[in-house]
Amino acid sequence: MTLAEQMDTVTGAAAGTVDRHATTETFESTDPATGAVVGVFPVHDAEAVRATVEHARPAAVAWAALGFDGRRQRLNAYRGYLARRMHELADLVHRENGKPHADAILEITLAIDHLAWAGAHARKTLGPRKVSAGMLAANHAAYLEYQPLGVIGVIGPWNYPVFTPMGSIAYALAAGNAVVFKPSEHTPAVGAWLAAAWRAAVPDAVDAFQVVTGFGDTGAALCRAGVGKLAFTGSAPTGRRVMAACAETLTPVLMELGGKDAMIVDDDADVAAAADAAVWGAMSNAGQTCIGIERVYATGAVYDRFVTEVTERVRELRAGSDDAATYGPMTMPSQADVVRRHVADAVASGGRVLAGGTVEGRYVAPTVLLDVPETSAAVREETFGPTLTISRVRDAEEALARTNANPHGLAGAVFSRSRERAMDLARRMRSGMTSVNSVLTFASVPALPFGGVGESGFGRIHGEDGLKEFTRAKAITRQRVPLPVNLMSFRRPAAAADALARVMGLVHGRHR
Ligand code: NAD
Repeated sequence: MTLAEQMDTVTGAAAGTVDRHATTETFESTDPATGAVVGVFPVHDAEAVRATVEHARPAAVAWAALGFDGRRQRLNAYRGYLARRMHELADLVHRENGKPHADAILEITLAIDHLAWAGAHARKTLGPRKVSAGMLAANHAAYLEYQPLGVIGVIGPWNYPVFTPMGSIAYALAAGNAVVFKPSEHTPAVGAWLAAAWRAAVPDAVDAFQVVTGFGDTGAALCRAGVGKLAFTGSAPTGRRVMAACAETLTPVLMELGGKDAMIVDDDADVAAAADAAVWGAMSNAGQTCIGIERVYATGAVYDRFVTEVTERVRELRAGSDDAATYGPMTMPSQADVVRRHVADAVASGGRVLAGGTVEGRYVAPTVLLDVPETSAAVREETFGPTLTISRVRDAEEALARTNANPHGLAGAVFSRSRERAMDLARRMRSGMTSVNSVLTFASVPALPFGGVGESGFGRIHGEDGLKEFTRAKAITRQRVPLPVNLMSFRRPAAAADALARVMGLVHGRHR
């Protein structure tokens, strides 16, 4: 199916749900660089969302019944389909989100790798296993398995419209759940494309992965539609609203929220490599990366060299929508306003603009800010733009203290040539993920869990934890042989409890 055909499929009938519950209201998705309409999509109301989830319930049962091998085979077919059409999808991501085609290819590559890993590791992580029954139930066999939750609701953002939701979708599907996905209203075409691709690649389980489109109300309706779990990726304020809506029905939630990630550059760091990574981590995707580097703490020993190296690199960057541009426009106009506010606040509170600082329409110049106080919005709040603050610190301990003082705790980076020192700093960084001598690398390691602490949320996608996130642990015991004395019977001998107390005294009483 070509992109044009895909768009025909999705225009007015996202995910093929329109036949089941007609909806007249529509909205347009537009190209942030040109304003051209990318597609027209239904605004699914609460009734339509509920109907989609109800439709997904039998699909979830059938999908779970396929077992690990059956699901793996179909997830493989899906990733094969995505891999064969990478350029088509990348083109759509470029048009709808604004990022360069090459960056879209990178994003899709990561998503495909996660699909492969989730399918391949689901049985080992979740499948039935025998565990030790322990001393008290020695005459029983004990079994553990991780069962799917049914239908998972996934609500996604627009900044990585393929990779980010796929972190939930791939792992939820591999664990045996059906998925109803509500993409961001800024990237509905990509969401609908992913569902259309599923239907084409997995024709015998089309309803295992469906998409509903619309704004916040559509997302809120998904929270209230009786899903087994709601996997939310987006901002903390919306996350709070999602949690409140899910609380009404005790629907469990996964919260992947924003960040304010820091890089620590220690005395012995490879300064050129750190500068290169900081600039990429801060500016790629126009800085609209939840795990993007937004602040750098460099020790006095390396600060001047680091600033010089960053300045050189930033000069080579250019925002634009042509093929040679480093990064694209801000996907949403309101995000450019946030950047403006943060730069203004940084300057008003005594900071210096080393580079950039200007916003023209949706294009933000690569911006580097120095000497910005820790209390400034540019250091406290998520900027989500191509900006970087660099602060001089006494030593790595001060850098770590400042890093950890922020309420966010998504990820971060440490640059140091000392393995021991860097690992120690990484461990003590208050974040879900840390890269040593690189940035963002953990996101490309499917075996590693991804998620934050504090304002950055809770729960994990990716890796074994990401698979378990979409399951419930099921415990089973089976009596192998009856014991002569059954302690859990009203007919137990009167002296049984005393005998038990004596045994416990012998086994545990010696520990002090
Ligand atoms: P957002 O919170 O504005 O919207 C996210 C999604 O929630 C959208 O699909 C939106 O339609 C939906 N929504 C809005 N109101 C809702 C409601 N009341 N109930 C249910 N759903 C509702 O976020 P965004 O601007 O799309 O994304 C940017 C944010 O996402 C940034 O903070 C970024 O750091 C974060 N993010 C986090 C991760 C991560 O993995 N931790 C990944 C990517 C982005």
